[in-house]
Amino acid sequence: MKTTQDTEVLIVGAGPAGLMLANILGMYGKQVTVLEAMDTLIDYPRGVGLDDESFRTIQTVGLVDAIRPHTNPQHIMRLVNGAGKVMLVNNPQTVEFGWERKHGFIQPEADKALYEGLSRFGNVQVLFGHRVENVEEDGQSVTAIALVSRPDGTIEERRFSAQYLVGCEGGKSPTRKRLGVSFEGESPSTRWLVVDVNNDPLGTPNVFLGADPKRPYVSIGLPHAVRRWEFMLHDDETEEQVTDPDYVNALLADHVPNPAELDFIRRRVFTHHGRVASDFRKGRQLIAGDAAHLMPVWMGQGWNSGMRDATNLGWKLAAVLSGQADDALLDTYTSERKDHAQAMVDLSLTFGRLIKITNPVGAVLRDAASSVLNLFPQVKSYFADMRFKPMPRYTRGVLADPNTRESGSAAAKLTSKLIPVLTANVKNSPVGVQFRSRV
Ligand SMILES: Cc1cc2nc3c(=O)[nH]c(=O)nc-3n(C[C@H](O)[C@H](O)[C@H](O)COP(=O)(O)OP(=O)(O)OC[C@H]3O[C@@H](n4cnc5c(N)ncnc54)[C@H](O)[C@@H]3O)c2cc1C
Repeated sequence: MKTTQDTEVLIVGAGPAGLMLANILGMYGKQVTVLEAMDTLIDYPRGVGLDDESFRTIQTVGLVDAIRPHTNPQHIMRLVNGAGKVMLVNNPQTVEFGWERKHGFIQPEADKALYEGLSRFGNVQVLFGHRVENVEEDGQSVTAIALVSRPDGTIEERRFSAQYLVGCEGGKSPTRKRLGVSFEGESPSTRWLVVDVNNDPLGTPNVFLGADPKRPYVSIGLPHAVRRWEFMLHDDETEEQVTDPDYVNALLADHVPNPAELDFIRRRVFTHHGRVASDFRKGRQLIAGDAAHLMPVWMGQGWNSGMRDATNLGWKLAAVLSGQADDALLDTYTSERKDHAQAMVDLSLTFGRLIKITNPVGAVLRDAASSVLNLFPQVKSYFADMRFKPMPRYTRGVLADPNTRESGSAAAKLTSKLIPVLTANVKNSPVGVQFRSRV
């Protein structure tokens, strides 16, 4: 039997981007249905770095107390060469967004807290075991057709209609594919073995990026005595071979005294991608999180970028659904988010190229260049203070110009029901956009 359920926003995918968006819309009192294909949240370890901007969003939805215990703040990162010499330290001490700039974190715990946070909202429901197979859209609404397995093994088709649908299905997003937008970029061919353990014998709560030409690696101390290693794989190493426990133990022998005593959570092979969708919206369908942009892990920005998407899109959807703003406001979601996501992808790819040098001559040149650059305090502090991180400043979009007080180039106009916002003078705003009410 086909049934139809109506709501205001359909979110496809209960990953962090979808769950945060559901929290924001829940807070605004909007009717939301999250459709998730799997029977549970993804529980294997992925993201390990959470930034200050995300914490601000977490604070906005009232989940700091739930997520903070699963983080370690001031996550210092050291780039070391093949001889173990520190080439670069990244240890920002400032708190422009009100929170430490970098945290280690356990993604499955943070995602679980986002999910549990939804129980505060009677207007939000999450339906597991609902794989969205198709979407129909007309001028008035959008309808998702989900397939659900019944206990007797038969499949039921359920239809869900809404004003808007946001595809948060991760990198393979069917919504993005349906919208026909391009997903330009590159997929560097290198594969990485990711190993997580529960009983970190090293204890240092920091990040080491090992630019070792023999085998680039990453070693990351995380909360709850978890440690993450990532090892770059050579072309002739098969997935079956590198996930073999003995093989992994041999890789770890250079890092810990006794790999056999480690309590392994997971050994998985990942490939990196650097891609951004050409548009984040078409009609009543939008995309957010990895569905809209995929980035190599080097800047630890995939999860965080999904938080930025949810932050940007959440209030806009709420305003449009409440009749406070025209539907054109949603076009500014792409114009405000896309360039920033692209900048993050570009930076991550550049950083990856620096770390992944396996040519010994190239590695020597890189190490020599970093030694020289470290002699200049300005260069040193550029890296230490993380001033290379693209900040969410908007050159296009709905924010008003600080001088002319005109809105951005997008056609959307806020009605008087919303508080108009202005970008602060950038000279007074060392990090990102600060908001203040029109005086
Ligand atoms: C090794 C590794 C390290 C990383 N490190 C970091 C880091 O340090 N910092 C950081 O910020 N990010 C990091 N990331 C990236 C981060 O994990 C992802 O960017 C983030 O999980 C993406 O969230 P999402 O909600 O967009 O998608 P996902 O988490 O992929 O969730 C998508 C959800 O959609 C569901 N779905 C898919 N198709 C359908 C369908 N048809 N119908 C219904 N549901 C569907 C899926 O089942 C899934 O639950 C890392 C990733 C990896 C792999």
